[in-house]
Amino acid sequence: MGVYSAKLEFIPAAPQWTFPATVEQAQSLGEEFILFLKNYALVYWTKTSWFQFSKDLLFAYVFTKILRLVLQYLKGYGLLAGIRAVYGYALRSVFNFVLSLPPIKRKVDAEISQTRAKIESALLVSDAGIPDFTELPAKGLPTDKVYELLDKLNDIKHSDWKHGRISGAVYHGGDELIELQSKAYHQFSVANQLHPDVFPAVRKMDSEVVSMTLHMFNAPETGCGTSTSGGTESLLLACLSAREYGKKYKGITSPEMVAPESIHAGVFKAASYFGIRLHLAPLDPVTFKVDLKAVKRLVNTNTVLILGSAPNFPHGVIDDIEGLSKISTRWGIPLHVDCCLGSFIVANLTKAGFKDVPLFDFRVPGVTSISCDTHKYGFAPKGSSVIMYRNNKLRECQYYISTEWMGGLYGSPTLAGSRPGALMAGCWATMVNIGQEGYVNYCREIVTAARRLKDAITNEIAELDVIGDPIGSVVAFKSNLVNVHQLGDKMGAKGWHLSALQKPPALHLAATNLSIPIVEELISDLKASVEELKESGSEKDKGDTAALYGVAGNVQTGNVADRIISAFIDTLYKV
Ligand SMILES: *Cc1c(COP(=O)(O)O)cnc(C)c1O
Repeated sequence: MGVYSAKLEFIPAAPQWTFPATVEQAQSLGEEFILFLKNYALVYWTKTSWFQFSKDLLFAYVFTKILRLVLQYLKGYGLLAGIRAVYGYALRSVFNFVLSLPPIKRKVDAEISQTRAKIESALLVSDAGIPDFTELPAKGLPTDKVYELLDKLNDIKHSDWKHGRISGAVYHGGDELIELQSKAYHQFSVANQLHPDVFPAVRKMDSEVVSMTLHMFNAPETGCGTSTSGGTESLLLACLSAREYGKKYKGITSPEMVAPESIHAGVFKAASYFGIRLHLAPLDPVTFKVDLKAVKRLVNTNTVLILGSAPNFPHGVIDDIEGLSKISTRWGIPLHVDCCLGSFIVANLTKAGFKDVPLFDFRVPGVTSISCDTHKYGFAPKGSSVIMYRNNKLRECQYYISTEWMGGLYGSPTLAGSRPGALMAGCWATMVNIGQEGYVNYCREIVTAARRLKDAITNEIAELDVIGDPIGSVVAFKSNLVNVHQLGDKMGAKGWHLSALQKPPALHLAATNLSIPIVEELISDLKASVEELKESGSEKDKGDTAALYGVAGNVQTGNVADRIISAFIDTLYKV
């Protein structure tokens, strides 16, 4: 304190210090120093106005806050990363400025509108037989006319998901299951979980879906959870409840989370929506699991949640959850495991006979919450997921409760208000229809297909390298010899939709039920595409994905990638 008033003249002169030669000298020097501080404090206290005092207090508060942030940053990331961050920031500012100069801006704008046009021509389909409805038809169409239009809409050319040439997206696709889900949906089409008294059956199914999932993830007796609209909502709620838990039980008002760099974007979204600072811990360069030492450094007294994935979206790699649990229990911090993608695959790997599956669920003592997407490898209709907690103290923290609302006493377990009971009926029907044995068999078949792909890439395609050691359904690969995003575009031309990844550039396939019969075809197309790329040379074949990721990874292009993504989203609602 008092930094401000240091410029005032009345402060006592500091004693003349020389290096103490004896213990006595050191003692008297110490006493002298304490006396100096006392005098200083006394003079400061008597001579300082309240106004000055408040100013000093404010200054000291802001100063220690900033100092703390800087120290925490240095502890978490190191000096080099700090310098790099400042340098990167400066560089981006310079390029953003250059890009905002009128002649250059005009050029960039022109290119973006070209890209926008390209996106629109790719996404907007027009068909002579299907009218466009930009406003309500003045008179409703007769039902058979609507049926007819629906058939036509269903016939519009789309990606070939039925033949499995797509990563993830459709996880089962079996006709019988679709029939069952449609019937369930039909029966409960008006149901709403917001009104359990009106729709008691949906409440029952909902609670059973959560219970069956908890059981699959070895939850203790106290385990509980809620269903949600999808993986992102489950992640949002895990982060929200951790934030509220930190506030309620530890008084944390500047919440932070620590997650692997490979964590799902839903966690970035949660950080952004809920004002939680997200620290990303780097991955081990060989295993691609999160670097535990980095996690340890990034944890501090504001940390409300540590996260890991089992497995992560980009590489299908399972983080060392037991290692994370050691850190989280040491500091009493909640630990979330994202099993959205792993879902019913990761939970059944051991039962399906696969060896060396690490522990990742509630059997690990530090794990406090798990998200699991029933709409992925649970094969439920899209729009369902489960968020699970070790106990109700944590789950309560995600509830929204208001006793003040004019519309009456209000409480809701998740982000949504009204919720589609029909989807829950579809999910429940799917789970009881497939059953434990069914899921184990699906797990065995899907993972066997993924392992065939992994082995083929490792042993038969020298140009490609599998990332880490994925043990589930997702296999990612990179290359030092060919541009993998160009490879993705080449595969796209052959009808395959592999997901593009970055940092490092890579592609992945999330194998599904539909991938099983076509793995060999995928492998041979991959081999052929690699050969084509090598023959044609990389420059000639700059495809769209390769170009876009080139832009995204480049500081010189400023926020162009953001603008292209915005343009893409705009297009979703263009009629
Ligand atoms: C799919 C996925 C999610 C959630 O995604 P939604 O599209 O919202 O269902 C979360 N984490 C991982 C690892 C995922 O793969």
